[in-house]
Amino acid sequence: MSTLLDVSELHWLLDIVQSIDVGVVVLDREYRIQVWNSFMENHSGRPASQVSQRSMLELFPEIDQAWFTSKVETARMLGTRVFTIWEQRPYLLRFSNYQPITGLADHMYQNVTILPLRTVNASTGHVCLIIYDVTNVAVNKLQLEAANAQLQQLALHDGLTGLLNRRHWESCLEREFSRHTRYNNPASLVIFDIDHFKQLNDTYGHQAGDEVIRQVAALTRGMVRETDYAGRYGGEEFAILLTDTSLEGAALFAERLRQAVERLEIAYDKYLLRCSISLGVACIHGSMTGYPLLIEAADKALYRSKQAGRNRVTLSGAATAH
Ligand code: GH3
Ligand code: MG
Ligand code: MG
Repeated sequence: MSTLLDVSELHWLLDIVQSIDVGVVVLDREYRIQVWNSFMENHSGRPASQVSQRSMLELFPEIDQAWFTSKVETARMLGTRVFTIWEQRPYLLRFSNYQPITGLADHMYQNVTILPLRTVNASTGHVCLIIYDVTNVAVNKLQLEAANAQLQQLALHDGLTGLLNRRHWESCLEREFSRHTRYNNPASLVIFDIDHFKQLNDTYGHQAGDEVIRQVAALTRGMVRETDYAGRYGGEEFAILLTDTSLEGAALFAERLRQAVERLEIAYDKYLLRCSISLGVACIHGSMTGYPLLIEAADKALYRSKQAGRNRVTLSGAATAH
């Protein structure tokens, strides 16, 4: 400001600072509060008379001191404004959020501008904090992100079981297949299909069938490693890519899974349902030119499990086993 204000204009200015819908705080060099407008009074529940001349850092222990003081010092040293945004730190001061928008925000999200203050001829070391309530913006952005994550989940996963859907599972397989052939790491595929599922559907109904699919999938998910890819391949058919796993390792896994499903009791209505699965196992080997050949090998082994009487594991290129 180039001209000095007279006293009446100063009053206007104070009125504006008081009624403006952002927080205005002035701190001296020792972080003692010099100005505390009504926005700050209302949201903190502390009147200006109570906080005046007291250290803001002591009054508000939620402030991350190292972070905040380094921001303030930067503003003082460079003589320029410094901004902090809610994406980096949700707030400077923890104020409750009274706007009942959603359950997403129980506190106010804040952007803060730190403004170094100077008199006409010298720096005073005072800084002004301008605190903006950006809860609406933050909540909208967070909701959008949550919705996007949900869409992503829906696009990649099967609705009934939560396993990877076939399309996504196949793209994972394709990627892993080329990775494993490039580095010559072992990887194996287990495909399995629930036995006599049609009969189960016909006897207990489609809903019961769905519950069986869901529980077999949940059991499977509990048995695979983080690095494996378990997908729903078809109606009651599943496929699991076991990364860095030899045929022998995959055979052990398949047999454990077979036994676990055999033991599984599924409560549905007044029934306790049981089922079994037939499995086929294959591993990547040098003569395979593409991932469809791996699927084909495991599928053939599965077919042989069915032919040999079901509820068993067959390894690609080997005799059936139980
Ligand atoms: P097999 O031992 O030879 O596998 O006999 P199966 O009866 O299981 O064989 P098939 O593949 O002929 O039958 C599968 C049945 O699964 C046919 C279809 O109606 C049913 N099915 C497919 N998807 C679903 C689903 O999402 N839910 C339910 N409840 N049934 C499904
Ligand atoms: Mg079946
Ligand atoms: Mg089937």
